[in-house]
Amino acid sequence: MELYLFLDIDGVLNSFNHPGTETFTKGRFLYDIDPFHLEHLRRLIRELNPKIVLSSTWRMSKHLVEIIKAHDIEIYDSTPITYNRSRETEIYWWRGEHMKPEDFGIVLDDEAVLTQSCNNLVEFNTNLTEGLTEQIVSDIIKYMGTVPREK
Ligand SMILES: [Mg+2]
Repeated sequence: MELYLFLDIDGVLNSFNHPGTETFTKGRFLYDIDPFHLEHLRRLIRELNPKIVLSSTWRMSKHLVEIIKAHDIEIYDSTPITYNRSRETEIYWWRGEHMKPEDFGIVLDDEAVLTQSCNNLVEFNTNLTEGLTEQIVSDIIKYMGTVPREK
């Protein structure tokens, strides 16, 4: 069983409370990764060892992907970019192409993505003010403890 993390960046690894050190704000986007949130992501990675699939709009910018890599975040793959830019459709597409029935995916985003429940995807939401917190990571780890992880 493989575990995948569909990762959003804005509102997850940056927030109004922790906008990062090199903020160059454009509208509501913050365009940086904050060490506060990164520490929580690292704990999640340490505990659950997921493969990271980038679902954030950051995947469309080479420059932004370089920022992610510069923070030592290993990106396994990215979801496709669909015509209507539906993140849900993009994640479902990736799931259909790459995930086996026994695999499991965590969708981590500051906006609600999944409109229907799905037996091997779960969604956890952050918010733009607080971003990824210790509590949310604890909730994810606790939840994954209830998911059977067979080989
Ligand atoms: Mg976001």
